Amino acid sequence: MKRTGMLLALFLMATVFTAMNPVASQAKTVFVTIGTGGITGVYYPTGGAICKMINDKRDQYGIRCTVEATGGSVFNINAVLAGDLEFGIAQSDRQYQAVKGEAEWKDKGPQKDLRAVFSLHPEAVTLVAAEDAGIKTIADLKGKRVNIGNPGSGQLQNSIDVLEAFGISWEKDIKAEQAKAAEAPGLLQDGRIDAFFYTVGHPSGAIKEATAGHRKVRFVPIEGPPIDALIKKYPYYAKAMIPIAMYEGAANKENVPTVGVKATFVTSAKTPDDVVYAIVKEIFDNLDSFKTLHPAYEVLTTSNMLEGLSAPFHPGAEKYFKEKGLLK
Ligand code: GLU
Repeated sequence: MKRTGMLLALFLMATVFTAMNPVASQAKTVFVTIGTGGITGVYYPTGGAICKMINDKRDQYGIRCTVEATGGSVFNINAVLAGDLEFGIAQSDRQYQAVKGEAEWKDKGPQKDLRAVFSLHPEAVTLVAAEDAGIKTIADLKGKRVNIGNPGSGQLQNSIDVLEAFGISWEKDIKAEQAKAAEAPGLLQDGRIDAFFYTVGHPSGAIKEATAGHRKVRFVPIEGPPIDALIKKYPYYAKAMIPIAMYEGAANKENVPTVGVKATFVTSAKTPDDVVYAIVKEIFDNLDSFKTLHPAYEVLTTSNMLEGLSAPFHPGAEKYFKEKGLLK
């Protein structure tokens, strides 16, 4: 009796081990990494949200997804193109510039291998200034210490565009810093900078941190004829609003007008179709659950998630969109 019991136990253990055979499952598992941004931005939790949905169905998709905190849009696009990351989140304006061979890609030329997967939440060019620095308009930035964004970030070019629209040179007229957005709130609270730009979805941890300190801060509106001209000049800028209700600590009492772009999800032409298809299917089939993962996703719809993209769709994404009639 005892012997039969032991044999049965051995038999069961062997069955369980075969079922969990790490070699068998490893052979089927595809590892993908999503390049995001600073951990107090919205890209980082967005990468986390996409990975969570995919990893929850690891048995079905055979994909193991991880996120990486990075310097932002430009870094992510370059890392995806270099094959260092499978996916990246990048501003729609940066995607456009990479495809056209503009801005950071001027010397390298058009980036032909970049592929669009879908677009995500809107991002607002956000200018946060210390109240005691007396900055109420863009013109007041002259002579001030301003963080314009780290190389590799999306916001760096947005800051330069906004300053230039008002005839302000970032090299001559302000004391420009190029720190990462995650460091900017601390620098502002410590009195080491007067203001910072951050192109980000709302609410974001970094902006909450900046508006919750002892040094009172306000959002500076980015509007007026110079901005109207900027929107006319570049196809990727649109008017946007910073919802003030999300930041109780800010000095402003009303929503703040600015310009904005969109966050987009990109990959390389080299990423396998079935991997891209699986991710798109998981997010689009379950968009309602995805939207509960961050308040910035509230406005997302299956149709507006195909807007704001300049790179060709990845074939894996295109296949899904055609099946669902989202694309002709
Ligand atoms: N828009 C920023 C960038 O491209 C990142 C914002 C975020 O991390 O949410 O660098």
